[in-house]
Amino acid sequence: MNHAVSFEPQFQSEEAAYAFVENRLWPDGPVCPHCGNKEKIGKLNGKATRIGLYKCYVCLKQFTVKIGTIFEDSHLPLRLWLQAIYHVCASKKGVSSNQLHRTLGITLKSAWFMSHRIREAMRNGNLSPFGGNGGTVESDETFLWNDPEKPVKRGYAHKNKILSLVDRESGEARSMVIDDVTAKTIVPILKENIAREARVMTDDAGQYRFLGEEFADHGTVAHSLGEYISLADPSIHTNTVEGFFSIFKRGMKGVYQHCAKKHMHRYLAEFDFRYSNRVAKGIDDSDRAKKLLDGVVGKRLTYETTH
Ligand SMILES: [Zn+2]
Repeated sequence: MNHAVSFEPQFQSEEAAYAFVENRLWPDGPVCPHCGNKEKIGKLNGKATRIGLYKCYVCLKQFTVKIGTIFEDSHLPLRLWLQAIYHVCASKKGVSSNQLHRTLGITLKSAWFMSHRIREAMRNGNLSPFGGNGGTVESDETFLWNDPEKPVKRGYAHKNKILSLVDRESGEARSMVIDDVTAKTIVPILKENIAREARVMTDDAGQYRFLGEEFADHGTVAHSLGEYISLADPSIHTNTVEGFFSIFKRGMKGVYQHCAKKHMHRYLAEFDFRYSNRVAKGIDDSDRAKKLLDGVVGKRLTYETTH
């Protein structure tokens, strides 16, 4: 965190941290998480009262803004959560649990738990298809590390496989772990995530051969022949999604070194989130951290599910 940013009040005082999160999650004032009431709510301000405690005078229950979010059940101060979120959002390649542990002065176990929850908040529930209104979507796969469940052989069968889509117009990335790179696996995923009226750009791999039947247009570059931009039509290429892969791989290899296959979707969500909210789109580090707060609701993650 740079010097000026680290002195912002939400990183310094617990009261300011609560106020910061409340502003983002309750733009129109507090909402009771138990009954949904927005009208008859009082802030409890007694000397022995916990910070950020409210009482609902409809259901008579008490609550704070942490209820129903990734912060619920955490004993770590909210200002440390906000610091961690800022670090993860501001770094290009991610922040390891070890780094959070040292920077925030919390245990390694807490740091690990925190980073998984933050990644969960980055997972966006947006399932609307890419490439609406005839936009262009690039699709490609990459391989990362060995899948311990598969015997090591020649080729890529034993590697973890990742499919990413980038919508050129919105600049968003959407990635997933896939079992294999056959047409049978990939085509249904593309049909689910890409609008029919889209132009789809891929390389000349066999799994993409019949895509032209599914979408308005299908452009291919013959990577197998060393072609990276079509000479006939320079809009035909997959350089955007390959750029995304290079950021993803640099981060995964440099910062995280290893992650179990069952956690990989969370790391993908992290890289998708940062890419989709990147500086080139006019989103700075603080905006990105604020945007992440929108995703903290409804993402409670128990300790067990993160193992
Ligand atoms: Zn209530």
